[in-house]
Amino acid sequence: MEYNEDYELSSEYAMKVLARLKKLQIPMSPNNFELWYVYYARQNQDVIEFIDSTIKEGRPITSEICVDLHKRYLVDNKKSEMVRQAGDKMNDALAYVSDMVREAKVSTQQYGESLSGASSSLETTEDIEELKKILAVVAQDTEQMLEKNRRLEEELEQSSEEMATLQRDLDSIRKEAMTDGLTGVSNRKAFDEKIRYVRQKSDEDDTIFTLLMIDIDHFKSFNDTYGHQVGDQVLKLVAKTLTDGIKGKDFAARYGGEEFAIILPESNAMAGEVVGNALREAVAKKEVINRNTGEKLGRITMSVGIAQYSGQESEESLIERADKALYKAKETGRNRVVIGN
Ligand code: GH3
Ligand code: MG
Ligand code: MG
Repeated sequence: MEYNEDYELSSEYAMKVLARLKKLQIPMSPNNFELWYVYYARQNQDVIEFIDSTIKEGRPITSEICVDLHKRYLVDNKKSEMVRQAGDKMNDALAYVSDMVREAKVSTQQYGESLSGASSSLETTEDIEELKKILAVVAQDTEQMLEKNRRLEEELEQSSEEMATLQRDLDSIRKEAMTDGLTGVSNRKAFDEKIRYVRQKSDEDDTIFTLLMIDIDHFKSFNDTYGHQVGDQVLKLVAKTLTDGIKGKDFAARYGGEEFAIILPESNAMAGEVVGNALREAVAKKEVINRNTGEKLGRITMSVGIAQYSGQESEESLIERADKALYKAKETGRNRVVIGN
């Protein structure tokens, strides 16, 4: 995000931001400041829409919501911007190399012409002095050609090293942009891409796939009792249990807050139920221990909603059906798996 407002305008936004944070009693952290600055400067449509609709629906804007919004719409955007910049650098490097290749072609052609010129002169001359001159020119051109080739080789080698470095940077930025910072599993962005891909592939190959939406039970009260940090530790534990419990093409992501999503390609809802129950039991079996104090904090459970792709629906509709099933699992007692219709 770039901020180019002049002094007057930026002060006006800053005043509004501070007043708003104060009114909402939200910590005046740099991230919260940036989020609301972006809102008042009308720089990010997603942020504006989210905040406006939350206000319109009369729901409170909490500190947690601000943290989430900042991460989702500002941090992730910055990462995408870094990926774009690295891609641009790569394109520049490629353009440079193709220029060099073109240059090399031209000099090879010139050298070829010089050689064939010399060869026809050799056929028509018998004068030894003349022959010496022709050969001297050929030797000089050859020397120049060799020198050019040496330089070209060096430059190509340097460019290819630069490109390899860029490629590594790009890979690690891309990986980071797709990974949830807290739990290390795939993030929402990765999930959105994955489900789009799996749906397309499933349409092409005429196969099915199944989506599991998972939500930790009574997590708010767990957080309230033991604190956010212990809550974070639980999120890591659940994420690890989920990734350890799936295999092959199966894919797990942190969908948001304390919700996870699992995509099971080429699997039906029954298979989803088996996997869902195995994961649910694996989580329920683990005892949460406070890492700092060693205190046993009991067990946590999770609820799972399942939907099998119908072959004729959008990703949104599939997610909504899995969400409804999850809601039913919550309503009917939690710590259970429900298959949606
Ligand atoms: P339910 O069984 O109905 O799902 O109840 P719940 O308390 O889990 O549901 P609710 O949606 O009311 O609360 C979710 C809570 O998850 C709110 C917030 O305290 C917590 N949470 C969300 N994201 C994070 C996070 O990144 N770290 C921690 N520690 N807690 C989080
Ligand atoms: Mg939830
Ligand atoms: Mg929950």
